[in-house]
Amino acid sequence: MSSDEETEEYLFKIVIIGDSAVGKSNLLSRYARNEFNMHSKATIGVEFQTQSMEIDGKEVKAQIWDTAGQERFRAVTSAYYRGAVGALIVYDITRRTTFDSVGRWLDELNTHSDTTVAKMLVGNKYDLDDIRAVSIEEGKNVAEKHGLFFMETSAKDSTNVKKAFEIIIHEIYRNIS
Ligand code: GDP
Ligand code: MG
Repeated sequence: MSSDEETEEYLFKIVIIGDSAVGKSNLLSRYARNEFNMHSKATIGVEFQTQSMEIDGKEVKAQIWDTAGQERFRAVTSAYYRGAVGALIVYDITRRTTFDSVGRWLDELNTHSDTTVAKMLVGNKYDLDDIRAVSIEEGKNVAEKHGLFFMETSAKDSTNVKKAFEIIIHEIYRNIS
């Protein structure tokens, strides 16, 4: 192997979408900085964080974008989706309306990106299992219907957060290699 190949790098853009307050920003801060904020407020402007991991001895950088509150106005811009190769579609397992919105978010994603985008449906706030409004089966069924990976997570207690991002990053890597 040449030294060129040894230092090969990948940069993957991943977007996080879903209704307001489902936990998108906290999933990102949990993954990228191991932080959680009980009273997080939507910040202005588009933001992303970069997280690196190694696959097959290669450095893979995931550039993960957060809507930063744009979704409140039902107007996530096309720039947000541009160049994305992965997406997490997030709902809150305690609020059915956020689950009902999944189809709309998928439509928007599909309009703005090509079909090879690796997608995962994420039911967040698993720590609130005792007040859930959407069953695991319902989540699984919708994911299966649309050909998405599926995972329930908790940004609060870290359940499956790293796993969700790593599955999507591995899938993107498989799609391009
Ligand atoms: P966003 O609007 O989708 O970015 O949602 P935020 O990340 O700002 O989170 C909205 C609210 O839900 C905040 O009060 C968070 O503290 C809370 N939250 C986010 N993730 C979780 C979680 O996994 N469990 C619980 N119990 N609360 C969460
Ligand atoms: Mg947010």
